[in-house]
Amino acid sequence: MNSLYIVATPIGNLEDITLRALRVLKEVDVILCEDTRVTQKLLAKYEISAKQLATYNEQESGVTAGKIIQWLGDGKNVALVSDAGTPGISDPGGMLVQKVREALPEVKIESVPGASALTTALSIAGVPVHDFVFLGFLPHKKGRETLFKEIATSERTMVFYESPHRIIKTLESLQEFSPNKRVTIARELTKIHEEIKSGTPVELLEYFSKNPNKVRGEFVVIVS
Ligand code: SAM
Repeated sequence: MNSLYIVATPIGNLEDITLRALRVLKEVDVILCEDTRVTQKLLAKYEISAKQLATYNEQESGVTAGKIIQWLGDGKNVALVSDAGTPGISDPGGMLVQKVREALPEVKIESVPGASALTTALSIAGVPVHDFVFLGFLPHKKGRETLFKEIATSERTMVFYESPHRIIKTLESLQEFSPNKRVTIARELTKIHEEIKSGTPVELLEYFSKNPNKVRGEFVVIVS
């Protein structure tokens, strides 16, 4: 029986990949990725020469789910990776899994777990995480204010992904809606400039305005 493997890859430090992930990437007939340049870098580090590397992104470009289903139907083994972390977590993957499960119930869909910015951030945040709500990326317009109101009233830890272009705007909204909440910013996890910074929204705004060079990289925001 052939498989579709959903393979987690590093979120920065290229050593953060499992032995099983490396074996699967070596063995499969096709590796589906978001950006071939990003995945090639990982494959090169581990001297893996992919039999076939194809782009899949759930949008117009790249191979379609139909083509992937055809490959799987022909008995090929296929692995899906994203640029970083776990596929399907704010990344392509979920729709493909659903379509393959519907079209080819006999194909095994196997998880090859590993890094995710979500769990990595929570593991070193030092905040209560016995339960939390993950919001993915916040919407830019519609529904944004409603979410900030929800964050303000939630008794659970709320976690979301943010880009460097919007982090200041987001902290300003947190200042408006949740001025007394504790906010933890996990930046550049597993990379050279990894940093965890906590404080009230106003304290963090002050920190980033004094250190504009830190308004860079990748961010996970945790509101507790
Ligand atoms: N699938 C990925 C995962 O499992 O973490 C997430 C992909 S999502 C498109 C990318 C976002 O994840 C970034 O904008 C950032 O918010 C977060 N992220 C990814 N790598 C990160 C890192 N090394 N440090 C902090 N946040 C990171």
